[in-house]
Formats: sequence, structure tokens, C-alpha cells
Amino acid sequence: MKVGFIGLGVMGAPMALNILKHGHELTVFDRSPEAVARLVKAGARSAATAREVGAASEIVVTMLPEPQHVEQVVLGADGLAEGLPAGGIVIEMSTIDPATSRRVGDALRARGMELVDSPVGKTSEHAVSGTLTLMVGGNQAAIERATPVLNCMGTDTYYCGGPGTGHAMKMTNNLLATTIMVANTEALAIGVKNGLTLELMQEVMRTTMAWNQQFAVAMPKKAFLGDDSPGFAIRLACKDVRLACEAAEQMGFEASVGRGAQATMDRAIAMGLGDRDTAALMFIREKELDIEIRQRPAALQKVA
Ligand code: NAD
Repeated sequence: MKVGFIGLGVMGAPMALNILKHGHELTVFDRSPEAVARLVKAGARSAATAREVGAASEIVVTMLPEPQHVEQVVLGADGLAEGLPAGGIVIEMSTIDPATSRRVGDALRARGMELVDSPVGKTSEHAVSGTLTLMVGGNQAAIERATPVLNCMGTDTYYCGGPGTGHAMKMTNNLLATTIMVANTEALAIGVKNGLTLELMQEVMRTTMAWNQQFAVAMPKKAFLGDDSPGFAIRLACKDVRLACEAAEQMGFEASVGRGAQATMDRAIAMGLGDRDTAALMFIREKELDIEIRQRPAALQKVA
């Protein structure tokens, strides 16, 4: 198939590589020339604009930071919609709000094209191994045509419903996953400041309702080791929670837990940590309370 890819960042670059590996003809664009060069080296063709990617493709994947980037790349000047032939499909895989997803999808359908929403779950490691969770929404016929491309990137595929439902699923998932993670940093910091060790809290809490996947799996791999190398940037986690809270408020509902988590992340961004992994949120607590929350290697082995 002739496939296009726009947004070659932490997630997009390995996802695009997996499309290439499956033998599809790939044309790419990113506003970062270095990101494009890496894909060209692997065998992709580069385009100068999103419109050019569209003109060279039957199906185009977008993997961009925020809703405004998706709107601009798809519907803006020199955008995808100006180049993609009638019948073409955009697979929108960024984490954006369902309202933007539906608006962009409707605009494409008015021009004879389709949008399939398929944001992704799991991590950049799974983007590399092509084993992402895919939360798919859209019209059935378009999803069927997009499936060979989706299968290059993910293994756990869930059909969520009509247009926008994949993005609704992802936004809901990230509101919960991120607020749990921020709550962990808060509770663990209070525990350590009160004289408890991380190891003791792990031993006890794994038997109680406090135990969660962030605490059990994600944080021991990065935060508890003092590692905040790029993975999932705080600016992106904050954006996801903000979008979910805004969507809730548009329904007349106050997502106060989410707004609390957002305030912590806003503070981290104001401290210049926006591009660091969410593990850095733990380091803010350490700084604020003058403590250290680190796992001893022996205890880490026991938990694993
Ligand atoms: P990233 O910031 O690493 O990459 C985004 C890429 O888009 C960059 O290469 C940037 O240059 C490019 N870009 C931005 N605006 C552009 C434009 N107008 N035209 C062309 N290129 C443009 O982000 P990421 O971590 O790859 O995440 C991408 C999306 O996936 C986000 O919505 C994020 O929330 C979501 N997501 C991330 C993870 C993760 O673990 N990193 C996991 C699941 C979902």
C-alpha cells in the first residue's frame, strides 16, 4: 500500500518504521528535518508538506502532540486534505479530544475522504515492538481498509464504536492512568516524610486497595530508579488530563481530581520539566519535601 506518516516523534518514528518493515511504500513529513532524515535512511521518501504526503498516499497516519496540530496538518493550508485523493483515509493516532476528532472527521467526509481514529495505549517500547494497544473508532468500511496498516503497529485492537469513540476511550484511559500516577507520587512522598520506606509501603500496599499498575509496574522501571529519560513527556500527560477536564466541563461536570493532577503537572512545566518523562513528577515531591524516594536494587528484584 502507499502509506503516509506525519509526526515522527518518540512514538511516531518507531510506528512508521514498523509500517516500512511490513513492506508498504512510505512517505513521511515532520517539522523536524532530523526526524525525517532518520526515516529516509530506513527507506522512506520525504515530502515537503502534509499536502504532498497526502498526494502520494492512499492512507496517511498522523501522530502529533495536540489537537491544534492535527487540525492544522489535516485541514490547514498545504494540509493533508488538499492532497489526499478521494476515498483516501486518515488514521489519526494522537491523543486528542473526541470533539476535535469528530470535527476533523466530518470535514474530511464532506470532501469524500475518511477518518479512522486509533489512538494508542502502552509505551514507546511497545511502539518499537509493534505491540501497541489500538482503540479504534470510525466507520466499519474505512476501518477494514485501514486494518493492514493498523496491524503493523499494534496487537491489541479494540473496536470502540463510531467516529470519535477511539479518542474518547483514550482520553478516559489517560485521565485515570495519569491521576493515579500523580496520586501515587503524593501519597508516597507523604509516607516517606513520615518515616516509612518505599519498600515497606510496597509490601503493605500490594495487599490493599492502594495497589495499582503505576505503582507495581511503571514506577519501579523509571521513577523509583531516578530515571526521567524521554518516554512519556509531562507536557503530553498534562495535555491529556486537561483535555479530559475540559470535555467534562463542557458537559457541565467538574473533574476535580483531574484538575488537581493537572495543577501538579502545570507546576512541573513552569519549572521547565515539560519535556521530561512523567517520572520527574516524583522528583518534584522529593524537592518539595526534602526527601528521597528511591528503590534499593535488592527490593526491586523482590517486587519484580
Ligand atoms: P513527540 O512530541 O515526541 O512527537 C511529535 C512529533 O510531531 C514531533 O516529531 C514533532 O516535530 C511533530 N510535529 C508537531 N507538530 C507538527 C506539525 N505541525 N507538522 C509536522 N510535524 C509536527 O510526541 P509523542 O510522544 O510521539 O506523542 C505523540 C502523540 O501520542 C501525543 O498526542 C501523545 O499524547 C500520544 N501518546 C504518547 C505516548 C508516549 O508514551 N510518548 C503514548 C501514547 C500516546
